[in-house]
Amino acid sequence: MIIVMKQGAGQSQIEAVVARVEEQGFKVHLSRGEARTIIGVIGADEHKIQQEPFEVMDGVEKTMRVMQPYKLASRDFAPSDTVIHANGVAIGGQQIVVMAGPCSVEGREMIIETAHMVKEAGATVLRGGAFKPRSSPYSFQGLGREGLEYLAEAREQTGLAIITEVMSVDEIELVGEYTDIFQVGARNNQNYSLLKALGRTNKPVFLKRGISGTINELLMGAEYIMSGGNMQVMVCERGIRTYETATRNTFDVNAVPLLKQLTHLPVCADPAHGTGMVKLVPAVAKAAVAAGADVLMIEVHPDPARAWSDGAQSLNPHQFKQLVDELRPIAAAVGREI
Ligand code: PEP
Ligand code: MN
Repeated sequence: MIIVMKQGAGQSQIEAVVARVEEQGFKVHLSRGEARTIIGVIGADEHKIQQEPFEVMDGVEKTMRVMQPYKLASRDFAPSDTVIHANGVAIGGQQIVVMAGPCSVEGREMIIETAHMVKEAGATVLRGGAFKPRSSPYSFQGLGREGLEYLAEAREQTGLAIITEVMSVDEIELVGEYTDIFQVGARNNQNYSLLKALGRTNKPVFLKRGISGTINELLMGAEYIMSGGNMQVMVCERGIRTYETATRNTFDVNAVPLLKQLTHLPVCADPAHGTGMVKLVPAVAKAAVAAGADVLMIEVHPDPARAWSDGAQSLNPHQFKQLVDELRPIAAAVGREI
């Protein structure tokens, strides 16, 4: 249930409602908008709480049931967009954030060189995997701690924020020592122990949609993180598996405007994994921006033909710069900036 306070309701009225909710054994989530405060009621038996007693309390305008299974992630709980801050980058605001970099960190020079190039082109966040979820155990698995150190050095030199994947609960501490944003990959959208553990951290989490995941499952993944107390979650469309084999995945452009309606969290788009093909990435990136994405994640490699992973979907720095330039008028057409 959510309790919508009247415009101008006083602090003591808000506190009285919160106390009444807590008395009944539930938790609250407060969302203070410019006009009014919304009090979200959270708890396993939340559907059992009586609405009527709250409707007659001072300062309360109305109460509403949240029909979706996700509560904290729902747009009803927080009508205005959530803005997340990572190393000085505001994610989810007017500016569309471009996260760019290689699929995997392959070495010190390559990540530092890539960082300078993507920054120059307009990216504000550097991506790069140090722990890689590869389909084959015989493929390159990532540089681990060494990769994290190189990412941190690239951040120091460029001022970019960094994002890198965390694959398991026991990696959280190590990855958290370095990264500004935890990336949770498609294969872990429903790894509930990982999501719960990330809910106990205080770093932003970039959660990818499962390989065959529904939008509901993606938002329930976000809910797992948020229910642990970490509200800094962004959700990412990265393509899903369908019957189509002509592309690596099917980028679901519907997901972008739908997620914008269903959740207040920043909505991200990953056209590289969504298509698997360099020649499709720019068009799909443009479609995602036109559809309302807050964040674009683009794989960029200094020499894609020699990439250790995902070269076929990685832009070279020149292609990336051209894409960002072409995205600017599209962003402007939908009232945003890049
Ligand atoms: C990646 O971002 O390189 C990655 C492995 O992504 P996904 O989890 O979407 O496959
Ligand atoms: Mn990749």
